[in-house]
Amino acid sequence: MQRRLILLATTATVAFAGSAFAQAYPNKAITIVVPFAAGGPTDLMARIVGEHMGKELGQQIIIDNTTGAAGTIAVGKVARAAPDGYTISIGHIGTHVANGLIYKNLNYDLLTDLAPIARLPSNPMLVATSNQVPAKDLKELVAYLNHNPDKVSGGTAGMGSGSHLGALAFFTATKAKYQLVPYRGTGPAVQDLIANQIQIMVDQSSNSLPHVRAGKIKAYAVTAVARSPAMPDIPTAAEAGYPGMEVAIWHGLWAPKGTPPEIVARLNAAAIATLTNAEVRRRLEDLGQDLPTPEQMAPAAFAAFHRAEFVKWKPIIEAANVKIE
Ligand code: ASP
Repeated sequence: MQRRLILLATTATVAFAGSAFAQAYPNKAITIVVPFAAGGPTDLMARIVGEHMGKELGQQIIIDNTTGAAGTIAVGKVARAAPDGYTISIGHIGTHVANGLIYKNLNYDLLTDLAPIARLPSNPMLVATSNQVPAKDLKELVAYLNHNPDKVSGGTAGMGSGSHLGALAFFTATKAKYQLVPYRGTGPAVQDLIANQIQIMVDQSSNSLPHVRAGKIKAYAVTAVARSPAMPDIPTAAEAGYPGMEVAIWHGLWAPKGTPPEIVARLNAAAIATLTNAEVRRRLEDLGQDLPTPEQMAPAAFAAFHRAEFVKWKPIIEAANVKIE
């Protein structure tokens, strides 16, 4: 009996210590691990969202760009981090779904080793080329690719990344092909696109659109079902003659599994406050991002969405027969 009482007391102390810890949270800087290079779309999302979340949480947000292997190193780092809310993962449909279906030797499970915090905006992709490519619209671009099968290369952020999924959607819809060149993120890749080191890229509009507006690269189509108010002059791929290219890169935030639910809730509330802030919304929408509703951002709703995305993408990835060399 006495032993049972002591045990109960110990459990109560641990529970109390846990909630006191959650109440004191956050009392130091929080690191968001970005799986791609600085200057790209995932990095930009982390910086825009992180800046405002930091204000909401009263702490600094540190951005840690851990690049390589299509984001798998960064995600593994968070999956193995202390579950205390101070190291969190940002990623997207590529890093947190496609990679789980493509890479067979991951040392973490995307569905069970991470605790979803919040869904973040979704971004259609732009089919864009360097200004040197002599095509005026998507049909001419496809004809150019078909006449120059070995001359054209396109940037991706690695096998399974969003830009790789974009390229696969482009190949499937147009039946055209180009060589894929992997980068540590599409921030560096878009610089090479401007310089015509690579000729084509299908990437989040948040990365390409500012350069399209500046006349440094050309956009042919947006991979969405409808035109975006941020780029009303750019046709959808279907309008440009190639239906079936629709793909949106949704983003999200995750903590290591075992993070106290109070801490996940605190981070979630900060994320919702961020995406309902008028200035943050304006910045993201200007880049063509579609913002989730607070209901879609709830951890449980995001977890269900994340699981459903695995089910949706499994046959697509299998049909594309993506193999890791
Ligand atoms: N947009 C990239 C991708 O292809 C990654 C990045 O640099 O953010 O997934």
